[in-house]
Amino acid sequence: MNLLIMGPPGAGKGSQAVIIKERYNIPHISTGAMFREAIKAKTKTGLLAKEYIDKGELVPDSVTIELVRERLQADDTKNGFLLDGFPRTIAQAQALDQILSEVGKKIDKVINLVVDEEILVIRISGRRVCKTCGETYHIVNKKPKVEEICDVCGGELIQRADDNVATVTNRIKVYYEKTRPLLNYYDDKGILINIDGSGEIEETFRYVEKIMEDANDLT
Ligand code: AMP
Repeated sequence: MNLLIMGPPGAGKGSQAVIIKERYNIPHISTGAMFREAIKAKTKTGLLAKEYIDKGELVPDSVTIELVRERLQADDTKNGFLLDGFPRTIAQAQALDQILSEVGKKIDKVINLVVDEEILVIRISGRRVCKTCGETYHIVNKKPKVEEICDVCGGELIQRADDNVATVTNRIKVYYEKTRPLLNYYDDKGILINIDGSGEIEETFRYVEKIMEDANDLT
């Protein structure tokens, strides 16, 4: 199954994606994570992306689309994939349709996490990520066993550079302007499913499971 997970910053896309990946054995493709890797490796794409990410702006479509085009050529996407954080603009969505149609594929379902704005800000400002493996935590909702240390790999937990209040406010604004219109794009195709993302991670995942079960019943 080829899936998209959508929702504003802080909606919990990454948290759901990690579980979906494990449970359904499909690769989790996060453009945000790919950019963070590129920044760490100081590649040309990384240096360019950093300029935008630090301000809470979107990285230009041309750069982002190429990144995804290449990633979708990898063998591990043959039996499905989960895209997280892409597409974020109508141009990206159209490019994705084009990339997939060239290989006879399409997006099967778009899962949209619906969360109120106050909850988003609380979630993002308390978010911590492992510097080494990228696992995410929250200072109140998902504490590590040992303070500031990753449960998975023992790495140091840090706050993402773009999780500060000013950048987050802009990311949410950019989401409403550029990304939210995509919900209509996918609704018109009849593949959009809205679920409540304001509860606990496990609670939200139960809605995801239901979507996957219903989809299997149809095949
Ligand atoms: P995320 O980890 O999905 O929250 O992404 C972090 C940041 O990476 C975003 O705020 C953007 O600056 C950039 N980014 C991630 N995905 C995209 C995309 N599809 N288009 C443009 N910029 C992106």
